[in-house]
Amino acid sequence: MDKIVVIGGGAGGMELVKKLGNKLGKQGSAEITLVDVSSHHIWKPLLHELATGSLDEGINAIDYQVHGAHNGYRYQQGSLIGLDKAARKITLAPLLDAAGQQVLPARELSYDYLVLGIGAVTNDFGTPGVRQYSHSLDLISSAMSLRERIKTLFIQHAHGQRSGRLNMAIVGAGATGVEMSAELHHMAKTLRDYGYNISDDLLNITIVEASDSVMPTLPKASLRQAVHNKLLELGVTVRTNTFVTEVREAGLATKDGTFIDADLILWAAGVKAPEVMQELGLDINRANQVLVHGNGRSHSDERIFAFGDCAAVPQPDGSFAPPRAQTARQMALVVANNLISLHRGESTPLQEYVYQDLGSIVNLSRFSTVGNLFSCFRGGLAVVGGPARFVYASLYRRHLWTMHGPVKGVFMLALNGMQRYLRPQLKLW
Ligand SMILES: Cc1cc2nc3c(=O)[nH]c(=O)nc-3n(C[C@H](O)[C@H](O)[C@H](O)COP(=O)(O)OP(=O)(O)OC[C@H]3O[C@@H](n4cnc5c(N)ncnc54)[C@H](O)[C@@H]3O)c2cc1C
Repeated sequence: MDKIVVIGGGAGGMELVKKLGNKLGKQGSAEITLVDVSSHHIWKPLLHELATGSLDEGINAIDYQVHGAHNGYRYQQGSLIGLDKAARKITLAPLLDAAGQQVLPARELSYDYLVLGIGAVTNDFGTPGVRQYSHSLDLISSAMSLRERIKTLFIQHAHGQRSGRLNMAIVGAGATGVEMSAELHHMAKTLRDYGYNISDDLLNITIVEASDSVMPTLPKASLRQAVHNKLLELGVTVRTNTFVTEVREAGLATKDGTFIDADLILWAAGVKAPEVMQELGLDINRANQVLVHGNGRSHSDERIFAFGDCAAVPQPDGSFAPPRAQTARQMALVVANNLISLHRGESTPLQEYVYQDLGSIVNLSRFSTVGNLFSCFRGGLAVVGGPARFVYASLYRRHLWTMHGPVKGVFMLALNGMQRYLRPQLKLW
């Protein structure tokens, strides 16, 4: 029986194991194992909402062990640290509890096919101080530690333990930085509504961007300008064409010689695949991404596949598929089909993945939503406000629907709708 080991239960990995589990695992024709460093899945494009408490992890987190039991795959919690291609084995780091005590020792898992979908982490581009003094939104654990820090700062201000404005600096004006700045404003407003002593102008958020525009990946200048204007309306300071040279405890040093004071810094300036990719003996690029063929197979080993943010996937026009949730999902499904075909010994050629740009949407919390749909077709269709918000929410609804199936999916969507009335808008404790 083929053993298929998938590392990473993220935006793409969950689609992959669900499909393999239901097609092969449940029939007992292959053993599907998911490995993830976390015990549960939260859709990564919502990590900023987790960090501000807008997203309730109690309702939205999917427990891998339970999901696997219902969908034909096994689950092992652990972090990938090694690969022996010749012996077809991977090594997982010892599993530690929150107090640093060992729960499980280092383990080895053998495979017939290995799939890497471990996503991306913040790219500090070698900038000094990023690791020591800034937060990121790489993993569920980083979002939760950011939530702790934000909560502490708000409470200290509300109780007079800190004076002046609360300075926050966000490096990078892509989706993560822009959406986070709006979420922080929503959080301050909601806390004020709950009776916390937080003044209207407490938040002083600065977004720093090296290029000449916010949301550089939005294809239309008018949409980029709409996002920029909304940020200004919220009171966010936007500094484009500004290059951060060093992160310090008290803020950001920039190339033009100015220093931006910050009590909290979020680094969201770009991504690369995790460092562990350098230890696996696979062909990788400068962003640590595994070099794969269009069908997802790695250049280095035909039994190893990769998809999503951690893979460099060539496209027919010579470019590479961008690191986005839709890429991860689309490609994970192609890899799943290819693994099913290989497992069944079919002689048809493996499917090649071609990126379909269905659009980009940026959600400025409850304040505005802006986007471009079907970008692959004649430049796409610009959407703003209600329709954009509807499409944005639909992306996550589709993810929940796929993860839970039609019946439970409907209940999950209903539960998510109801919790807006039943529970506080922010979950902080
Ligand atoms: C705040 C934010 C907003 C975003 N907004 C958008 C958006 O609007 N649109 C869009 O297209 N994209 C967006 N993205 C990017 C999108 O989330 C990613 O492109 C997408 O999640 C990539 O999917 P993936 O399956 O490759 O990896 P991920 O979804 O990142 O999943 C990787 C998984 O691997 C696990 N893992 C990591 N390292 C290890 C290890 N060593 N061992 C075991 N497991 C490991 C992680 O726990 C995780 O579960 C956003 C990202 C962020 C942070």
